[in-house]
Amino acid sequence: MRVLVVEDDVMIGAAVRQWLQRESYAVDWIRDGMRAASALIDEAYDLIVLDLGLPRKDGMELLGQMRKHGHPAPVLIITARDALADRVGALDAGADDYLVKPFDLDELAARLRALARRRGGRSEPAIEIGQLCMNPATHDVMLDNRRIHLTMREFSLLRILMEHPDRPFSRAELERRMYGWDEDVTSNVIEYYISALRRKLGPRWVRNLRGVGWLMPGNS
Ligand code: CA
Repeated sequence: MRVLVVEDDVMIGAAVRQWLQRESYAVDWIRDGMRAASALIDEAYDLIVLDLGLPRKDGMELLGQMRKHGHPAPVLIITARDALADRVGALDAGADDYLVKPFDLDELAARLRALARRRGGRSEPAIEIGQLCMNPATHDVMLDNRRIHLTMREFSLLRILMEHPDRPFSRAELERRMYGWDEDVTSNVIEYYISALRRKLGPRWVRNLRGVGWLMPGNS
């Protein structure tokens, strides 16, 4: 899952990025509204965390433009403006949720999980395919009632595949979804994590489509 964090406050931005990276998200952090607007054109984000008071382009204006152009990603507003009018205005302008600063990072992560669930059309916190079950909140992965231990990246990769069963992903797309801009992606790293998943879960869970990429069969 790739998250765009738009926040000009360095302390808050850095803390949010670090927290969400630990939660196995790929995170891009941008500090002004103009750069955020161009990033939204160039990149596909699954979730957006948006401050309202931003240099160069206000968060409300950015949100309005996003929705006008049909950008579908859920937006969570984080704002110091606790005036009721601002919150109502942001929700009416197409925001999906908001948090008033100062907020708890655990709560931010929980709200993002809820938005991701809603976007995926799920109400249950866990994702299940056959006997394989993962819980994005606790990072538990169970297969045939046995706990599977995954690294952060393996978990992140498995989550992408499980959220889109039967949909093939190319290496480039997986890299985009798993890594932020400031992270180095070494060559063959996706193949490395794919083979780790196949080893830990069993090869039938991750199918290799020659020349296309990989998918998780939905009827596993
Ligand atoms: Ca601000």
